[in-house]
Amino acid sequence: MKIAQLGNPVLRQQAKTLSTSQWQSYGPFFAELEQLMLRHQGVGIAAPQVSESVSAFIVASAPNARYPNAPFMTPTLMLNPSIERLSDTMEKGWEGCLSIPGIRALVPRSTHIRVSYEQLNGEKIQCEMTGFIARIFQHELDHLNGIVFLDRADPLDYATESEYQRRIRLN
Ligand code: ZN
Repeated sequence: MKIAQLGNPVLRQQAKTLSTSQWQSYGPFFAELEQLMLRHQGVGIAAPQVSESVSAFIVASAPNARYPNAPFMTPTLMLNPSIERLSDTMEKGWEGCLSIPGIRALVPRSTHIRVSYEQLNGEKIQCEMTGFIARIFQHELDHLNGIVFLDRADPLDYATESEYQRRIRLN
């Protein structure tokens, strides 16, 4: 399992929605995907990032060297996810992407969202998200629609990884 890098056309495809029975064979795939994400200190990863263009991602916020201020949550697999914006407020925050190493940007995202997704057992979940976790969800959902975080950022808000690290230390 390898992380597709920016420029790989798979990152620009629309991911396929699958049925509960179609998801059943994906258990081992998601276990491997989660391990890959943790190894690379990601706080989320979408299936298309490993060249599997299906509508699924893992959200797994926890503090690490790449995101020292991330809140803790249980890693959660989300299948066929969708979003509803609950506020018009957008807030800029730092993002990076395992498919775009070395580059960061301040990306405007909705601060309060309601999300729906399915679990591997077919159960449908609805919940509300705010702040950094809502940010991760929107970043990963974009991957399912062929969008990367740089597309949503002002190029004046791009930064290298080392400049990002310097700036968050100053904050
Ligand atoms: Zn990403």
